[in-house]
Amino acid sequence: MNGKQHWILTSKFPLKNNEDKIIGLVGIGRDITEQKEQQLKLELLQQTIEQSPLPIVITNPEEIIEYVNPGFTNASGYSFADVIGETPRILKSGLQGKEYYKNLWETIGSGKNWSGEFQNKRKDGTIYWESAVITPILNELNEIKHFVAIKEDITGKKKMIQDLKIAKEKAEESDRLKTLFLANMSHEIRTPLSGILGFSSIICAGVSDQEQLKDFGRIIENSGKRLTTVIDDIIDISMIQSNQLKLKYETFDIDELLEEMLIVYRNQKTEKLVKIEFNVKYCENQEHRIIYSDKNRIYQVLRNLLDNSFKFTDSGFIKFGCFGSSDNELILFVEDSGIGIDESKTKVIFDSFRQVDEGNSRKYEGSGLGLAIISGILDKMGGKIRVETKLNQGSRFFVHLPRNKTKTGTLTKPVIYEFEKTTKSTESKCIVSFEDDVASAEYLKIVVKMLGYKLVNFFYAKEGIEYLKNNSADLVLMDVQLPEMNGYEATRIIKAEHPDLPVIIQTAFAMKGDEKRAIQAGCDDYLSKPLSLNVLKEKINQLVAKNKQAA
Ligand code: ADP
Repeated sequence: MNGKQHWILTSKFPLKNNEDKIIGLVGIGRDITEQKEQQLKLELLQQTIEQSPLPIVITNPEEIIEYVNPGFTNASGYSFADVIGETPRILKSGLQGKEYYKNLWETIGSGKNWSGEFQNKRKDGTIYWESAVITPILNELNEIKHFVAIKEDITGKKKMIQDLKIAKEKAEESDRLKTLFLANMSHEIRTPLSGILGFSSIICAGVSDQEQLKDFGRIIENSGKRLTTVIDDIIDISMIQSNQLKLKYETFDIDELLEEMLIVYRNQKTEKLVKIEFNVKYCENQEHRIIYSDKNRIYQVLRNLLDNSFKFTDSGFIKFGCFGSSDNELILFVEDSGIGIDESKTKVIFDSFRQVDEGNSRKYEGSGLGLAIISGILDKMGGKIRVETKLNQGSRFFVHLPRNKTKTGTLTKPVIYEFEKTTKSTESKCIVSFEDDVASAEYLKIVVKMLGYKLVNFFYAKEGIEYLKNNSADLVLMDVQLPEMNGYEATRIIKAEHPDLPVIIQTAFAMKGDEKRAIQAGCDDYLSKPLSLNVLKEKINQLVAKNKQAA
């Protein structure tokens, strides 16, 4: 033989003589090696199918299930007994159209393989995804005897693909928004800047007419204010997004705030108000007028909403004020008869940088940050904003604020300092400033002069500290960023040497932490640049008067 092992089926019986005595052994053997190998192969195939984690289904040509493996039971929840005699339609979820299955049966009916995906339903009713390859099994006459489906549960994979798709769409969207934001910002910054630069160069070239000079000055001032708003908005949105927005709670009268806004807007929007009726609605319930909240932030919320109403309304009306109140809540509103908002956009407008009209062709200016900032502020306050609007029929924004009634205490009335009406020589009144920027120092000099003071400015903190050792002053204006020694450190030294000398710190950073550091350094007040003429005048007057009263 060839050394290969063989399987022999053998029968043995004794060989007997005539006296029935065993005289030998007869053995008949049949080589069954081939048969045995076939059987082992079949066993292997059966084990493969039985133990395969992939679901396998075998049907007859009439689609009646004849066999399913345990992998099928794992995936679908149906046991062999559940499905035997059924058709694979038992798994149908109804989420895929008839056409899909028609194509499947046409393909396998013609003797070809079909591969695709099913959105099926498990025995417990849950939906799952399977990928499947269905093969028709043919006999020697090329007739279909069976169909075999080998499947794979791809629910996890599908979810992963879906998640990746969403993440990709989000990344693309934020990329688009970033580009839009940069374009908007560039426009929002360049427009007022060109106003400032353009009119300053006209003034520099020489303007003799005083009225014209005033007009140009006003344009420069307005452009500067617009620029400040853009920067404030960017800082606010980054504070909101990094969850660093801090609120300053106080007890105040909402009607006073509404009245203040009415006056400001009546003065500011004189041109627009020719065609627009502008009204306020005060709080009906006198008790509910008093709330405990962040007054400045509520002012900011209403200001943003009113600015939008004025921007998007050419004629008709703008109303704002108190819509209603309860012990727990105060509802403010801003309503206009302007262009309104398409329903499909009423959600996205609350997202950062989103506007109804986007891209280069947009008609209205703006950074698209206002409503996102409002939402962020109200979130922090435990309130909310919503809008009722129809395209071309105006908009009504509602602001829901918690009244925090348990915390309402006494109203903090502003302290009014009597300012000394003096006819004394202004020479004795002196303000010392620490400012290394020439333009800012020049500006301070003019403001201070308008208030009747002389200004002594220092670029280097050390020199100013030295000066104060030998000279008296009424107030110190301190910049934060100075060469060699910063403003906080200089303030600490000055306050240690002259505790009664008022110090106002002013900085261009305008971030929350700056205020804290300024207070820690011992200053009496804090201002962020750009300094408004009126605010600066008011602060100087207040602090000098307060100091004089204390003395
Ligand atoms: P911005 O006003 O800077 O564009 P906002 O976040 O304040 O940004 O507003 C987003 C968008 O919502 C606006 O661009 C505008 O399309 C729409 N919108 C807001 N308020 C109004 C309003 N009163 N009337 C019509 N559309 C408005």
